[in-house]
Amino acid sequence: MKIVALAGGVGGAKLVDGLAQLLSPENLTIIVNTGDDFKYRGLYISPDLDTVCYTLAGLANPDTGWGRNGETFQVLENLQKLGVLKWFHLGDQDLATHIERTYLINEGLFLSQITRSFCHSWGVEYSILPMSDQPVSTMVDTIDEGELPFQEYFVRRKCEPKVKGFRFAGIDAAVPAPGVIEAIMQADSVVVCPSNPWVSIDPICAVNGLCDILATKINVAVSPIIGNRTFKGPAAKMFIELGIQPSPLAVARHYKKFLTGFILDKMDEKLKQEMSVPTLATKILMKDRDDRRRLAQDVLNLIQSLQ
Ligand code: GDP
Ligand code: CA
Repeated sequence: MKIVALAGGVGGAKLVDGLAQLLSPENLTIIVNTGDDFKYRGLYISPDLDTVCYTLAGLANPDTGWGRNGETFQVLENLQKLGVLKWFHLGDQDLATHIERTYLINEGLFLSQITRSFCHSWGVEYSILPMSDQPVSTMVDTIDEGELPFQEYFVRRKCEPKVKGFRFAGIDAAVPAPGVIEAIMQADSVVVCPSNPWVSIDPICAVNGLCDILATKINVAVSPIIGNRTFKGPAAKMFIELGIQPSPLAVARHYKKFLTGFILDKMDEKLKQEMSVPTLATKILMKDRDDRRRLAQDVLNLIQSLQ
């Protein structure tokens, strides 16, 4: 079975790891959000792409789900001594990635080419594609502080400002990265990982033409919400601030334009009767690699039943 997975960072990477335990590299392509990308001290940083790559390379920090395993922070500590405000965690090993990516971008290479080359170096055989090679920047519109670039909102302001909307700056000029459309066309199904619907999956779907192709496929999403809470991050808070009661149902409604199957937690099984697409209730918390594989198997089983 050929699968395309749409992923943000930590939540996305967990399910992607599960899928990679079951599918060979020819049968799994991952399309990753780049709306979180930003520049720090002149370095081009692509957090979600790195989280997915590090996870599949076995290099990710197992405790945080992002950043590198066994990381040190000497460069950051020394930057602080020079008066640089520390609001973003930048590990020493991670910095090597950002330095080389920035160099190659300045040499004129595309993000998709650089990612392919890095994956090759890290021994990752799966195709990990940025959603676009053109820069797209997620802007969070807040009630009290106006529009904030995503990392300002997420890291510096710790998701505290109340959200009233989102804008994906640069989206009109962005086209899908090479291979993105082909992978979706050839896939038996698209898996929407349990990533933040507003700021991880929406930017991917907003890239020119992607939403229209998705509408022609079997698409299965996994809820990032149990009950009315997320496992991590601001997705539930965003739903509330936008006037929507957070729940797996709200997530499914969010994807209603293209959704054909849905997975929610056993705890929310009663919501199945309110769902407008075939829905499976299972354990969706991924505490370890076995949980990831089990959930990925549930996803593949649901897809099979929809074919
Ligand atoms: P980010 O870019 O690092 O914020 O990561 P994503 O957007 O990919 O994922 C964030 C979402 O992942 C949050 O809404 C979490 O609720 C969800 N998440 C994290 N861990 C799990 C898990 O084990 N199971 C499920 N179903 N969702 C998870
Ligand atoms: Ca992210």
